[in-house]
Amino acid sequence: MGISNLIFALCLILAIFFFRRNVLKIKRNVFLGRDVNRSDQPSVRWKTMIRVALGQSKMMVKPIAGFLHLIVYVGFVIINIEVLEIIIDGIFGTHRIFSFMGGFYDFLIASFEILALLVLLACLLFFIRRNGIQLKRFVMKEVAGWPKTDANLILIFEVLLMGAFLMMQSADLTLQKLGAAHYTEAGSFPVSSSLLFVFEGMSETTVYAYERFFWWFHILGILAFLNYLPYSKHLHIVLAFPNTYHSNLKPKGAFTNMESVTQEVKLMMDPEADPYAVSDTDVADEMQRFGAKDVTDLSWVQLMNAYSCTECGRCTSECPAHQTGKILSPRKIMMDTRDRLEAYGDRLDGIKTEVDDQTLLDGYITREELWACTTCNACTDACPINIDPLSIILDMRRYMVMEESAAPNELNMMFTNVENNGAPWQFPAADRLKWRDEF
Ligand code: SF4
Ligand code: SF4
Repeated sequence: MGISNLIFALCLILAIFFFRRNVLKIKRNVFLGRDVNRSDQPSVRWKTMIRVALGQSKMMVKPIAGFLHLIVYVGFVIINIEVLEIIIDGIFGTHRIFSFMGGFYDFLIASFEILALLVLLACLLFFIRRNGIQLKRFVMKEVAGWPKTDANLILIFEVLLMGAFLMMQSADLTLQKLGAAHYTEAGSFPVSSSLLFVFEGMSETTVYAYERFFWWFHILGILAFLNYLPYSKHLHIVLAFPNTYHSNLKPKGAFTNMESVTQEVKLMMDPEADPYAVSDTDVADEMQRFGAKDVTDLSWVQLMNAYSCTECGRCTSECPAHQTGKILSPRKIMMDTRDRLEAYGDRLDGIKTEVDDQTLLDGYITREELWACTTCNACTDACPINIDPLSIILDMRRYMVMEESAAPNELNMMFTNVENNGAPWQFPAADRLKWRDEF
């Protein structure tokens, strides 16, 4: 094992160490949320995950973008199988360790090259679409600044990684042709063979230097990208799977009831009911706030949703409140939840932030946004990874109504009527059929 192998091993260990540390921090943050059971019906959950996350079924609603996304996703995942060989070679100083597989190895290398080219082209098209065409959902205020930079950085990263891979392959092929020691003939190079002209006329030493440069660039780039994921919306390539597995399987529009509140309503409706019957759920409910004022009042699934959001804006494009000029954007609800959760986690870790004392409600999400929602569920329907912004909106509304009695006037009148008359109207139940007497 030479010095370069030791350096490589050290880089690998550091990359894994920092990635693990950040993943554990995200996991800690997610489980700051309330407990919720999302492990029922495992076979339905597996099917949902395979269909939505692996099969990308909801991405295909927009077929061109969906197809390009599929290429990037499949290509990027499969090409990274090749990283295994690079890591083994990097640690032990071998070269193309899997070449003993013969024809199958040639097939794999050829497939990686074709996929690398397709990923590179798809990322360039995505970059042009994001920066050249003024698609409304990509130029909104909430994605200005870091979110836009993040999206562009991901695309640039992928283009550079794929480019370095193809250049590395081409330099390798040149060395194979030159009969360089260590570079045994192996692999099939349908794409990189067209780049051989780059190295034409160069000495073996120069080509070797290029090959090493692209090799290091490619693998260090992958390790850097791995560590960039926890800070980026690109984390969805990992979290889309648990996120879809833990999807809400209830019919859309079914609200979650708090047991203690249901019990109260039952008592109101049924004078025979035992007012002293207290269940375990009631006790648990009493210890928690009604609804959500801050991120710790949300469930861990809602917090995982926030980390999984790809900031694609499909939810906002479909939102009728947004379309009619209201301030609401379901994408912003998810982005704000993640930002607040990160700030909350940073405070737990002793990292000072300017927004320490701000809660999710009012500090990040305004009441006007929350009351603009029509609860139509178009956002949850449109989300390609089954994120549910509506559930966060409803929990925050529940807090305003039940903890602060701070609902809009029209709703407060309706609540009073329900309480007094058992119906949203302003007259008692006994008068309900009075209209009939008119005839
Ligand atoms: S449920 Fe609310 S946030 Fe979601 S699309 Fe409908 S109006 Fe917009
Ligand atoms: S919630 Fe879903 S649809 Fe909305 S921006 Fe995030 S990933 Fe896209």
